[in-house]
Amino acid sequence: MNPTGDARSVDPLAALAELLRGRRFVVLTGAGCSTESGIPDYRGPETRRRARNPIQGREFVRSDEVRRRYWARAVLGWARFSGAQPNPAHLALARLEREGRLLGLITQNVDGLHQAAGSRRVVELHGTLAEVTCLACGAVEARASLQERLLANNPGWLEVAHEIAPDGDAELPAAEIARFRVQPCLRCLGPLKPRVVFFGENVARPIVDEAFALLDGAEALLVVGSSLAVFSGYRFVLRASQRGIPIALVNLGPARGEELCAARVDGRAGAILPALADALAEPRHS
Ligand code: NAD
Repeated sequence: MNPTGDARSVDPLAALAELLRGRRFVVLTGAGCSTESGIPDYRGPETRRRARNPIQGREFVRSDEVRRRYWARAVLGWARFSGAQPNPAHLALARLEREGRLLGLITQNVDGLHQAAGSRRVVELHGTLAEVTCLACGAVEARASLQERLLANNPGWLEVAHEIAPDGDAELPAAEIARFRVQPCLRCLGPLKPRVVFFGENVARPIVDEAFALLDGAEALLVVGSSLAVFSGYRFVLRASQRGIPIALVNLGPARGEELCAARVDGRAGAILPALADALAEPRHS
């Protein structure tokens, strides 16, 4: 009990369940939803200390050298990324949709783990790493197929690069990158780009509209594992606030706009979301 005698406010999970009970809600997910699957975030407790130099979309399109550096490292990243499995947070979100409580997901993630967990209505705001497109002709190729071509044309690359960058995330020496053989589009030999939104690029309007339409049919918004530092996600919190529907947050550590949240749990999504799904499945106590 707190001094006001309101038992609900002392247990953040109970307060969260109370807020969402009986409301059809939409969930906005970020990188924090996938850290428990072994995919690092950008601004979490572990990663905030590390310097980051994300690829800029304009540089990628303009520069052969930037693309070579990207693909030389991406071969390593994909080897780890493509083996990731959904964690209990993804599974709980799929369950909440099956049980008719969750209308759908808006995700900033590009890892496909929501769909792998069984979520059906998923708006991928920033695209997916599972496909690449040709910047010249627009042809689409599966990333897994490109990986085979990259490895066939750069024999031993995984082993060599792992020796240089054991955490799969360090900068590779320029001399190593210079000998990496980038693979072009199979149809027109144009340059390939992962089908994701890089920094400095905009989310395509139809995707934003689809996400707004999903949110506009909801009675609450739950944010999971996002610092909300990126505007393309934060705008949905602003929209929910303008519409006057309640907003809730499950995140480790601080997030932008948390003062707009009526309920907030500072904890691991993989622990909180299964508990939330259980709580919402229980009959309401009178
Ligand atoms: P972010 O890195 O800015 O924020 C992640 C937040 O999640 C942090 O506040 C962190 O403390 C929290 N967090 C970490 N582990 C958690 C856990 N187990 N449970 C609950 N919270 C946890 O992520 P963002 O807001 O999504 O913005 C990053 C951008 O980078 C996005 O645009 C996204 O497209 C991209 N990105 C995607 C992936 C992915 O697809 N998995 C990974 C990294 C970055």
